[in-house]
Amino acid sequence: MSLFPEARVLGVDLEHGTVAAKTIPGEIYRLYPGGSALGLYLFLNRIKTGVDPLSPGNVLVMAVSPLTGLPISGLSRVNVTTKSPLTGAIADSQAGGFFPAELKANGWDAIIFSGRAPEPVYLYINGEKAELRSAASAWGRVTGEAEKEIRAEHAEDNLHIAQIGPAGENMVKYASIMNMCNRANGRNGTGAVMGSKKLKAVVVKKGKKQKPVNQERVKELSAETKDRIQANSVLRNLAENGTSGDLESLNLVGHLVTRNWKSGWFPEGAEKITGTKMTETILKKRDTCYGCVVRCKRIVEVPGMVDPLYGGPEFETCAALGSYCGIKSLEAIAHANQLCNMYGLDTISCGATIAFAMECFEKGLLTKKDTGGLELTFGNEEVLPEVIEQIASKKGFGAMLAEGTREAARQLGDGFPELSIAVKGQELPAHMPQQKPSLGLVYAVNPFGADHQSSAHDTVLSANPKSGVWNKLKQIGIWKGYEPDRMTVDEEKVRFAYNSQCFYAVADSLCLCQFVWGPVWQVYGPSELVELCRYGLGWDTSLYELMLAGERRINMMRHFNAREGFSKKDDVLPERLFNPLPDGPSEGRVLDRDEIEAARDLYYRFAGWDTETGNPTEAALKRLSLGWLLEN
Ligand code: SF4
Repeated sequence: MSLFPEARVLGVDLEHGTVAAKTIPGEIYRLYPGGSALGLYLFLNRIKTGVDPLSPGNVLVMAVSPLTGLPISGLSRVNVTTKSPLTGAIADSQAGGFFPAELKANGWDAIIFSGRAPEPVYLYINGEKAELRSAASAWGRVTGEAEKEIRAEHAEDNLHIAQIGPAGENMVKYASIMNMCNRANGRNGTGAVMGSKKLKAVVVKKGKKQKPVNQERVKELSAETKDRIQANSVLRNLAENGTSGDLESLNLVGHLVTRNWKSGWFPEGAEKITGTKMTETILKKRDTCYGCVVRCKRIVEVPGMVDPLYGGPEFETCAALGSYCGIKSLEAIAHANQLCNMYGLDTISCGATIAFAMECFEKGLLTKKDTGGLELTFGNEEVLPEVIEQIASKKGFGAMLAEGTREAARQLGDGFPELSIAVKGQELPAHMPQQKPSLGLVYAVNPFGADHQSSAHDTVLSANPKSGVWNKLKQIGIWKGYEPDRMTVDEEKVRFAYNSQCFYAVADSLCLCQFVWGPVWQVYGPSELVELCRYGLGWDTSLYELMLAGERRINMMRHFNAREGFSKKDDVLPERLFNPLPDGPSEGRVLDRDEIEAARDLYYRFAGWDTETGNPTEAALKRLSLGWLLEN
């Protein structure tokens, strides 16, 4: 085994107010090489079975990777692992920005938070110095104000802050962790766990970045980034128009989630809420994460309404707070995005929950009496700010919506679970399985609920056979292309789902931005990732070793879920996806239930899991050096 760095980890006991440094030996770190995998290793070694996610017994881990902060695009992301208050399953969420690179630059690979502080605190890190400080002046404030308070206390701007807003403090089940006030560890309610621990923020001082082992080779690889972007129309669009640059094209094929998933067609609004429209109207400038030349992030401004500090809406936000709710004003979406970033709310679950409430209102399950007089109709952009504020503060009917759609549907009565469009309690992101059935399979089986960044999407399989996409896909064992309208999830699609999920799992462990490093259309592909590990770290690895690390990460999550009582019964898609779409270019399109169920069983077999329960077998765990989990 070649040399691999040790992981340097901070253990923060919030109850006793202590901070202790420890190291994880290189031979262990190599098996769990950062981010999600390292987070799971540390989490699973500490968490007890059946812990209430919002109790002091929950554990929350923030982790980066040995690659974080190296001088090449797409290497500044932080992963958060904990038990989700939204789903009760494993929580796993990534965010970019500058905070991840600076955490690593201070010499730390992970932070483990346990217990609950008696009073609000934040963790301050300046190199070897790491201490808990009172967060009394920042607690209760929105993210922008809390940042100012913390900066004023240190009398300097050279700080990078990951924090929760009032929604996290109030333990809204889908509260996020924000850094730069506009980058979110959005999904799974990780911010609520921080809030339950009375942990307001993690503050790091700007540090000295690590250098690659082979600076020349990394420089050569990095020098190609701009040319590769120019040569790739998907990446050019991403850079110029952000992640919502493609929104309108989804509508053109009838797959833009509309009015709580009742339709995939939003002809009256799609064109008004696209990334191109944003570029033409409210975009102030493009923004970036540490060291990245893609600059896909948006900073928007609407005078008197939207402050550039809070960034700009991503594709998922334009859909969830836009078409999901039938809202066609980009300004209203940008304002709602700002409120979510101020209060620290996941924009996907927040928008999806409002869309759910709008359908309840349409059906008479919620009335003006419940909403405090709000006309909660699809398309009514004026209600968004008030509803978001009520959710964040858990006031009025916002208290019910703050629980997420699954619990809100339960509170409304047993007859309405079909209005909650969620898997394992997590609201679906804005890619429709009716168009992308293998993604639908991954929505169903993914351990932390439906997720659009856990596997490659079916549409790439229609790429021109001569395009570079196929060179990358073949590296991870995918060979078969499909006609664009061939909506199936057959054996080859299951392979595509599983293999690409393993690759994305290692990407989330090495803390890579999936727009730069991926198995399909991204700037760099699998073979270049191996080169990066070799030249950046001197890690003489292979794609085989990396894919195994990805599988290991997925199996750790599934093992935790099995311990918590999750099984095959939880790997199911919302009923609405099995009803034919009613209108537009995708009229009549529907998921085939038998095909999805057969694909799920085949997926379990590919993974080596029990097809009766969907849980990892002893053999599967031992194959991945995870036998120790069976003793926990
Ligand atoms: S591609 Fe976009 S999200 Fe990814 S690192 Fe670059 S700027 Fe950040």
